[in-house]
Amino acid sequence: MGKRKQIALSLLSGSGALRLGEMLSSRHPLVLTYHRVIPRDRCADGRRPPNTLFTDEFDEQMAFVSKRFNVLSGEELLGYVDGNGDLPRYSLAITFDDGYENNYSHALPVLQRYGLHAMFFLTTNLIGNRERSLWFDRLDKLLSSVPISEFTECMCRLEPSLSASPHPRVRAIFKSLSNARQMEILDRLENNFGCSGKSEEDAAIYGMMSWDQVRALASAGMTVGSHTANHQILTAASPVEVRSELQTSRRRIEEETGHACRCFAYPNGGRQDFRPSDERAVQDAGYQCAFTQISGSIHRHSPRFALPRIPIPDAGDMRIFRSHLSGIQHAFRTVFPEN
Ligand SMILES: [Zn+2]
Repeated sequence: MGKRKQIALSLLSGSGALRLGEMLSSRHPLVLTYHRVIPRDRCADGRRPPNTLFTDEFDEQMAFVSKRFNVLSGEELLGYVDGNGDLPRYSLAITFDDGYENNYSHALPVLQRYGLHAMFFLTTNLIGNRERSLWFDRLDKLLSSVPISEFTECMCRLEPSLSASPHPRVRAIFKSLSNARQMEILDRLENNFGCSGKSEEDAAIYGMMSWDQVRALASAGMTVGSHTANHQILTAASPVEVRSELQTSRRRIEEETGHACRCFAYPNGGRQDFRPSDERAVQDAGYQCAFTQISGSIHRHSPRFALPRIPIPDAGDMRIFRSHLSGIQHAFRTVFPEN
């Protein structure tokens, strides 16, 4: 980060600026996105895996949220989007993507301690599957344990479109493949490099919930929504595959929990990860709203099938957390776009 950028961010993160930003942005509800919450001592050397908050950091954030915000249930948020009345200032909703077991074991007790509601978006084919991890977690594990030259050589044999891709592009190209092709390549890579086993640390970080745990979340009053069946990025799927991902995941959640599944969150969720045809497919599959990872707050005119959220960064620093809630990070990114 350049010096001007650093000075600007540190001025904007001062407590006066934070309070002002929080006050100015308080009219519009926020939807926070989390992925994993794990105890610090579960990670070798305290090293933080991607998309992860440590339990003590999450606890501190929830303590702040419970004091300063009106935390919404899925029903209340849907009611607002439907135009049924106003919400108090400083309203927000808490969401978790993917369906990790640590959401049940480590995030739920914190939420319950503060009496907070949250929405959990599940990758349904992975729920209750002790053998398999999500495709991007399998890919990250391979990339972190195999020398990159060997990995790239093997990848290029399996998928010519990956030829000579430097490391970060591998993930981007994987995102453009169908789920069937992702599985085929990952199975062969794991066999080739002997990477298919799971350690205890892997299970704590990457393990997925069981259906019993999902039912316990629902019984605790949490909202359960869909994140597709296979974490298929919709733009990489045919219309038939999109329909199947949306319908099978919704049906499975309703069969397993006995509750209507009305909310959906797009895998990856960036602007490039869903098309107008996918928004229509979400509606046709019977959902009532869909969340993206496009940063912003919810307004009355927010598109119901492309609702913005606030992705919470992997940082325990409360000033950074508050700068995301106050809209300061959003304004900062508009002034200083990423290079
Ligand atoms: Zn996801």
